[in-house]
Amino acid sequence: MMNANATARLAGAMASLRSKVPGRCVLCLARDARHGICAGCLADLPRLPTESCPVCALPSPAGAICGACSTNAPSYDTVRAALPYAFPIDALVSALKYGDRLALAPVLGRLLAECAAVDPLPDAIIPMPLAPQRLRTRGFNQALELTGAFPRRWLDLVAPGVLERRRDTAPQASLPLSDRGANVHDAFLARRRLDGLDVVVVDDVMTTGATLHEAAAALKRAGAVRVRGWIVARTLLRTQ
Ligand SMILES: [Zn+2]
Ligand SMILES: [Zn+2]
Repeated sequence: MMNANATARLAGAMASLRSKVPGRCVLCLARDARHGICAGCLADLPRLPTESCPVCALPSPAGAICGACSTNAPSYDTVRAALPYAFPIDALVSALKYGDRLALAPVLGRLLAECAAVDPLPDAIIPMPLAPQRLRTRGFNQALELTGAFPRRWLDLVAPGVLERRRDTAPQASLPLSDRGANVHDAFLARRRLDGLDVVVVDDVMTTGATLHEAAAALKRAGAVRVRGWIVARTLLRTQ
C-alpha cells in the first residue's frame, strides 16, 4: 500500500499529464469525456451504500439515523456525499489539492452538484474555509474551486467570506483520531449574522466529521437554523 505522500505525488503527476490533453477523461484518457470523465469510468466509480444515516452519511440499515448520531447529535443536520473516499476518488481529491486543480475541480464539482441537486437549494453555499496560512501555502481553496463548477443559478448563493477559519489547525490526516476533535475546536468564526438561514457547507472530504461539526457550530452560533454538508468524498469507516 502506498503512503499518502506517494499517492499524492502520483495523483499530481497523473493530473498534470492529463490536464495537457483537454477534453479527455481524467482517469483513462478516453476522448469522449463529457465534463472530464468518460461514461465508462463514471459507471465504474465506487458508489456509496444506498442505505445510509441521513445525518452523517455513514452506512446505516434502512437509512435510519445511526446510533452515534442518535446519542450524540453533531451540530450539522445532514450530509450529502457524492462518492466514497476510495480509489480512484482518493487519488483525484489528492490531485485536486496537491496537483492540478484546474483539471479536476470541475470534474469533482459537477459530480457533487449532480448528487446535491436532489436537495432543496439553501440560502447560502459556504465553501469550507482554509486558515490564512494554509491558503497562502496552497494558493487556492479547493472547496471554493469545487463550487465554481456548480450550475449557474446556484452561483449567486456561494458565499466564501461568511465563515472564517481562525487558526491553522494541523491537517486532520496527520493526527491520531483521538486528537482530531480538539484540533478544530473553536477554529471557526462566522463573520455575519445568519439568522433563520438554511446553509450548506461544501468540502472535498469528510472523515470523522469533526471539522464539519465545528464549522456548523459556528454557523449556528451566528443564527443559522440548518447546516447541511455537501461533500465530494466520504470516508466510510466509522472513526469517532
Ligand atoms: Zn475514462
Ligand atoms: Zn449518523
